[in-house]
Amino acid sequence: MHRAVAALSVAVALALCAGLAHAQTTDTEREAAAAILRQIDSLETRLKPTETAQRLVARTDPARDRLLARVATVWTGEMQGLSDWIGHHPEVGWHEFQAFDTLTAVLKAYGFTVDTGVAGLPTAFTATWTSPAGVSGPTLGLIAEYDALRGTQGDFHGDQHNAQSPVALAAARALMEYMVQARVPGRVIVYGTPAEEVDPPAKYIMWKAGVFKGADILVRSHSTMETRRDRPGFGVCCLNIDAVKYTFTGRPAHQLASWNGRNALEAAVQFYSAVDHLRSTWRPEHRVQGVIPEGGVAPNVVPDRAVVDYFIRFPDEVYLEHISRMMDDAARGAAAMTGTDVQVTRYGEYRDGVTVAMLEELFWAYAQKFGAPGLKEEKGRPAGYEETGPVSREIPGVGITVRSSAFPNHTYGMRDDNFADIGHTGFLFDAKIEAAILYDFLTTPSFRAAVVEEHRTLAGLQDRYLAELRRVYAPEIGADTALSRGSHADLSVPKVVRPSRVP
Ligand SMILES: [Zn+2]
Repeated sequence: MHRAVAALSVAVALALCAGLAHAQTTDTEREAAAAILRQIDSLETRLKPTETAQRLVARTDPARDRLLARVATVWTGEMQGLSDWIGHHPEVGWHEFQAFDTLTAVLKAYGFTVDTGVAGLPTAFTATWTSPAGVSGPTLGLIAEYDALRGTQGDFHGDQHNAQSPVALAAARALMEYMVQARVPGRVIVYGTPAEEVDPPAKYIMWKAGVFKGADILVRSHSTMETRRDRPGFGVCCLNIDAVKYTFTGRPAHQLASWNGRNALEAAVQFYSAVDHLRSTWRPEHRVQGVIPEGGVAPNVVPDRAVVDYFIRFPDEVYLEHISRMMDDAARGAAAMTGTDVQVTRYGEYRDGVTVAMLEELFWAYAQKFGAPGLKEEKGRPAGYEETGPVSREIPGVGITVRSSAFPNHTYGMRDDNFADIGHTGFLFDAKIEAAILYDFLTTPSFRAAVVEEHRTLAGLQDRYLAELRRVYAPEIGADTALSRGSHADLSVPKVVRPSRVP
């Protein structure tokens, strides 16, 4: 299509669905998305998520009222204390052994069958409960995180992950009791997903291992300063990311005969500098930042090993692949000119996920009904409900984010609010809304069908959107962009030794 014609059709499309357009960041993305955004808009017009949510929330339902009262009892009686306890015992990603032990013990006591070490991750688990009425109903999934942040004064729960599992457990327990009493078939699965704050991304590894297969819906809660739902479409919280390590290997030598060596640090510096020289050839929306965590240990020995570690970010994954390829070429160039070898390791990958309006609007309607604090009328951009992307592409779900702190994420203020009224009441809202959404999904087949239809349609449109992106980028980055890099990142988990315990 001619550029001017394309621009005109883009303008028309944007006028038709201005709200959805914010999901795309660059002009190229908007051009690629124009027709697809129109389809998303007509899908939402037909499904009417806001009206559906308001109708579900407004109906009289004594069983749901009892369920929500039970969530509050379980939260206040047991889970708020557990949230505080995890908050006072912070453990960083891959080292969350106390939280893991405590949570899996509680889940076993609740009647769950617990599998540990899933996907080869020592602090990951799945806890599965099957209704006595059978498995013919839906499988309700709840994501539970428990890792802390790394801080200069020690580990701390400045992102309030301490509350996420207790919130899920309060909702899960009340739902199980309802399913027993009302003889409702189905399963409840709590997914213990460690290390949200460090790479490699645990949920991605668990997804690749098939851990989430069989879940019909996934819910997750997270700390925030404001209660806000997102628009439907494709997106991810913090741009698409490739986390890549470039390891240069040379040959050691004495400083006084350095020509006998092959200097890996020189290669790393050349590469680091080359990346800066590439910036002017990339679209300005890129965010590429790296560090050199290893660059030799002694001035009188030619360094034979150096590591450069980059987070490569771009608003869409197609152009991100282009940047990644150019960086790999630059690393190989630096290795060639210095006579060293380079090994490229992709250890983290984050991609756009899918946001489903049927679930976002239901979250919002319950937040309004329950009187949740910090309601922000303006919708956020689509971001999926988990940070890695592929899980929300495969399974519909929603992130419940009720204001639980007066301070931003990753601060000591947010940590302290864990133990204050604003945190405790915010987490209870999270638990009630998780339970209410899962209840509606479980008991209202027409709602369930609409969620599935919206998710499936959006996921299909996302594939077409990516194909369109490749088409419109082709003149700029070449036609060979179709995943020429091949398969997804090959991620391995750092070796962690479980600390010995005092009996
Ligand atoms: Zn977090």
